[in-house]
Amino acid sequence: MFSFQIRPLLKDPSTRIPVKATWDISEISDGSFNYPCLEPWKIQGELFYVGLDESGKDVIEFAGSVETKLRMQCDRCLKQVDVPLAVDIRQRFVKGEKTDSETSDYDFDYLPIVQDSVDLEDVIQYDVQLNVPVKVLCKEDCLGLCPICGKDLNQGPCECEEDFSDPRWDALKNLL
Ligand SMILES: [Zn+2]
Ligand SMILES: [Zn+2]
Repeated sequence: MFSFQIRPLLKDPSTRIPVKATWDISEISDGSFNYPCLEPWKIQGELFYVGLDESGKDVIEFAGSVETKLRMQCDRCLKQVDVPLAVDIRQRFVKGEKTDSETSDYDFDYLPIVQDSVDLEDVIQYDVQLNVPVKVLCKEDCLGLCPICGKDLNQGPCECEEDFSDPRWDALKNLL
């Protein structure tokens, strides 16, 4: 639970509630892999009043950011890479349950304000997860591993490189 009492925003719409916290989270998953978090998540932002929605319900918004650093692996050479992550987060909350009148599906653009408080935990975790990079490289021009002997080609060429021919290509060459 990372929840905030937002009653002051409803009383005085010019109020802003600062949000500042650090979370000690040991790892994050992108759905397939877990990556260790090398730094606690640094959360900063504020909650403020937006106005009334079309049905006259109070809407408030969280705008902020999360920063941390992940330990991942180079996509080509498998070396450890420490990846700084900075994620901007914007989320709106509405008083009372907001549902789509046609489908009755819950509207995730607006999370509910429950008992005059909002919970930021889920949205922060979700948005960070969504922003874990799909691919990382230790450097732009990483040469990767030799597909035959597995040597890290960043440390120099391997023996098998010169022999890197495929008999199927020779057959093709003869046709030319
Ligand atoms: Zn690499
Ligand atoms: Zn090789």
